[in-house]
Amino acid sequence: MIHPATELRFVNSLIGYGVFATVFIPAGTIVYVQDELERVIHPDDPICQNPAYRSLIQKYSFRDEAGNYVVSWDFAKYVNHCCHANTLSTGYGFEIAIRDIMPGEEITDEYALFGIDEMPLMCHYPDCRVCLRRDDRLVYARYWDTLVRQALQHFNHVAQPLLPYLDPQIYAELKAYLETGVNYRSLIKEELAEASQAEAIV
Ligand SMILES: [Zn+2]
Repeated sequence: MIHPATELRFVNSLIGYGVFATVFIPAGTIVYVQDELERVIHPDDPICQNPAYRSLIQKYSFRDEAGNYVVSWDFAKYVNHCCHANTLSTGYGFEIAIRDIMPGEEITDEYALFGIDEMPLMCHYPDCRVCLRRDDRLVYARYWDTLVRQALQHFNHVAQPLLPYLDPQIYAELKAYLETGVNYRSLIKEELAEASQAEAIV
C-alpha cells in the first residue's frame, strides 16, 4: 500500500505513469508497506508460465526476500526507478523516505533492491546507471544500507499513516532495534557480508 498522501500522474509516453507526493513527506516515513492485500505469487505458480500474465507480472511486481513476485493492489506498482531514489526498500517489509519529499515531487525507488537482475534504466540524472546490473546490490550495498539506517533514526519522530499495516512481528523487531541499536534487519545482509569479506581480502 502506497502512502495515502500520494497520487498517480501521467509522466510522459516513454515513462508512462508515476506516483507523486501531495504533501510534504519527511525522511523516515514509511512510503510503501507490503500489506495483507498484496498478491504474492510463487515463481512456480502456473500463472508465471501463462504468456498473458507473465509480462504483466514482470512489469508490475517486485520480488520479496523469498523470491516471490509481489503485485500491489493499489497504484504502488507505478512507482518509477531513479538512480537517486527518494525511497529505499528495507528489511522490514516497507520502503522508507530516505530524505524529505516535497509536495509535487515524484516518489522514486531503487529497482536493484527489487530482485530484478537486468533492465534498462531511465532517470534524468547525469550519472544515471542506464542499465540495472546483477552486481548493483553488491556495489551499492553499504551506501544504501547506510541511507536506510539514517532514515530509520527519524522513524519514531514523524507521522506514520501506514504503520497499522505493518506486520506486528516485524514491527516488534523494528521497535527493538530502534530502542537498542542491535539486531538490525538489513534487506541486503548477504551483499554487506560479501562486501566486508572482499575488503578483508584486499
Ligand atoms: Zn538512472
